Amino acid sequence: MSDAKLVRKPIPRPSPESVPFWEAAKEKRLLLPHCSHCRQFFFPPSQRCRHCLSQDVAWVESKGTGRIYSFVIYHRSYHPAFEGDIPYVVAIVELDEGVRLLSNILGTPPETVRCDQRVRVTFEQREGVSIPMFELAQ
Ligand SMILES: [Zn+2]
Repeated sequence: MSDAKLVRKPIPRPSPESVPFWEAAKEKRLLLPHCSHCRQFFFPPSQRCRHCLSQDVAWVESKGTGRIYSFVIYHRSYHPAFEGDIPYVVAIVELDEGVRLLSNILGTPPETVRCDQRVRVTFEQREGVSIPMFELAQ
């Protein structure tokens, strides 16, 4: 066994504003902050709408579908816990609700990933935390 397998992957630490996002992820639901004033989604979570600064913000469940806006294929690990995953895809996914998330594309050879491919959310379990990731939609 290499040393890489002994190092754990980092775990997201929710900010006070993102607790509902992570709690929903445990139930395999993707929640997004939505402004009840200007009726737009935004991300990352905040107490104020990123578009109009209203504090009239609620959590709304995303359809969990979108497209690959941009991506890179990592051929080098910048954290030893990810060495076993090389090569892997880090992507900006644009959800159908219009917000963009930085995530990984799982379940497909990295060299087949293209911009504008349709994706859907999936959840990776990591030490009790459920992390939204994406896979190609059929
Ligand atoms: Zn707003």
